[in-house]
Amino acid sequence: MTTTLQTHQAVELWSVTRRYGEGERAVTALHDVSARFAPASFTAVMGPSGSGKSTLLHCAAGLDRVTAGRVLVDGVDLTPLSERALTRLRRERVGFVFQAFNLVPALTAEQNVELPLRLAGRRAAPGQVRAVLAEVGLADRARHRPGELSGGQQQRVAIARALVTAPAVLFADEPTGALDTAASREVLRLLRAAVERHAQTVVMVTHDPLAAAHADRVLFLADGAIADELREPAGAEQIAARMARLETR
Ligand code: ADP
Repeated sequence: MTTTLQTHQAVELWSVTRRYGEGERAVTALHDVSARFAPASFTAVMGPSGSGKSTLLHCAAGLDRVTAGRVLVDGVDLTPLSERALTRLRRERVGFVFQAFNLVPALTAEQNVELPLRLAGRRAAPGQVRAVLAEVGLADRARHRPGELSGGQQQRVAIARALVTAPAVLFADEPTGALDTAASREVLRLLRAAVERHAQTVVMVTHDPLAAAHADRVLFLADGAIADELREPAGAEQIAARMARLETR
């Protein structure tokens, strides 16, 4: 008798290939990429422009379909899912944070945070939205609209919005790209808190070695493949040196 050991991973990519376009103009954005993201881990994804970082994030989050291979999120294989099932899975198990915050300008901070629950046909429990806003340090800004908040505060609202459904995985695409150093540090601290306090898994694309230094692991992409990996990075300088090595390959 054979026994299979099932190790639960938050996100798994098995030999993922993503090609765009056809024939001579086809571009292979990811080529046979396999990676695993453990529960309660914080991974930064780095690499030169065009190396496939966004494609990896989008495929791992079920925002984009793979050409070949498989993606599992929280143990669910995305490959055979219909669009409707994929949308539901994203709403229930995945949170997103973008460089440009992507808040709804006409809604207050608390309405923005409540939105994913409404879209999922759920109601916020009393105090739930305020509690999440308090967690990101914005209890006193609940009634403000995005235009009345600083960039750093807007990104904190976006993090609260991503966390309100208690997703297994948080995908962040250059979350500090539009922020100054102090606001970036606060955002990274909140992503770290999601890992430590709520055992959520964070996958963050960044080109900033300082941001990547907050992660437990850095994956380096080059030409659509994983070219290098750094576990427990010692700091931004070590990460920058690895990036430089990649870029001069
Ligand atoms: P990165 O995020 O590292 O800059 P991307 O994942 O955006 O890289 O892109 C990887 C490669 O795939 C690039 O050559 C890019 O031009 C190509 N690519 C990405 N998205 C598309 C698309 N929708 N259509 C055609 N080519 C694309």
